[in-house]
Amino acid sequence: LKRYVTGLLSEDDMEVVTVEAPPLDVPTGSKGVVVKNLYVSCDPYMRNRMTHHELPSYIPDFVPGEAGDLVWGMTGWEEYTVINNPESLFKINHPELPLSYYTGILGMPGLTAYAGFFDVPKPKKGEYVFISGASGAVGQVVGQLAKITGCYVIGSAGYDEKSKFGFDDAFNYKKEQDLEAALRRYFPEGIDIYYENVGGKMLDAVLPNMSLGGRIVACGMISQYNLEQPEGVRNLYYIVTKRLRMEGFHVFDYYDRYYRFEEEMAGYLKEEKVSYVEDVVEGLDTAPAALIRLFTGRSVGKQLVAVARE
Ligand code: NDP
Repeated sequence: LKRYVTGLLSEDDMEVVTVEAPPLDVPTGSKGVVVKNLYVSCDPYMRNRMTHHELPSYIPDFVPGEAGDLVWGMTGWEEYTVINNPESLFKINHPELPLSYYTGILGMPGLTAYAGFFDVPKPKKGEYVFISGASGAVGQVVGQLAKITGCYVIGSAGYDEKSKFGFDDAFNYKKEQDLEAALRRYFPEGIDIYYENVGGKMLDAVLPNMSLGGRIVACGMISQYNLEQPEGVRNLYYIVTKRLRMEGFHVFDYYDRYYRFEEEMAGYLKEEKVSYVEDVVEGLDTAPAALIRLFTGRSVGKQLVAVARE
């Protein structure tokens, strides 16, 4: 419906538009479903809904131009998803920014970076920060937030061209024979905060390079996910001698802060204080290969799959 109608209804009062699929609007606790419409009905009562009534009618008036909210949340690798708990969806308040950002910097990985960096180690200006997995969905955001905080930031990633993202410096961990020595080169005064995305050999190399009282955010350990037997960590005793604090953290504990985060991050994006690199492949069929790229190090930036543009 384009506008409320007076007199004889004409075709021009209506238009066919393409919109993003709206979220289910069902009360909390009830079950929602998504249906695919095969036939739709034309009924006389619809004309009544196209008139604006001052007093409530037996059925609500249509709202001209009404479309659903854009949302993000845990859906599936599919074109339509049944959402049984619509309260788990988040409304997208900044559709003027690229919608794909809601899979990354404005969604779960962005909140992971934000909460994991600000809440866990409580960073201070001038501190030395090291980020592994620095070009990824989470890592590139952590590095930029650390720069905004006034920290000195070094990242590591798997290809030379991946390794900058506006940090003070970065290195390709695959090219370093001795990771521990590489870190000593980049952090002669020690690492105050290590944002851990990788684990394994990298964690082992980081521990001796931490400064006294340093903090490690245990966000993820991707180097271990495909191993049948996790690697051991030789240098764990440095946690004692260097009085380190290593803290595990999960983004699921921070969703109550999402909208505050969204506002702040959208502001940074609009002011161009942060940017975001994405690696977008097209079509659901490419999703399995795209997921594998995360573990072979092929992706640059946030890996995602465009399923439908409208
Ligand atoms: P990324 O976008 O960083 O993708 C994964 C990247 O990890 C790859 O591109 C690859 O980059 C690197 N990688 C893969 N295998 C290895 C390896 N064996 N050794 C070193 N690097 C490797 O992923 P995300 O940013 O989404 O996630 C980063 C980390 O954060 C993961 O560990 C993930 O599990 C964790 N995470 C934790 C959350 C929490 O709440 N705690 C929430 C979300 C994510 P490269 O070319 O550099 O090797």
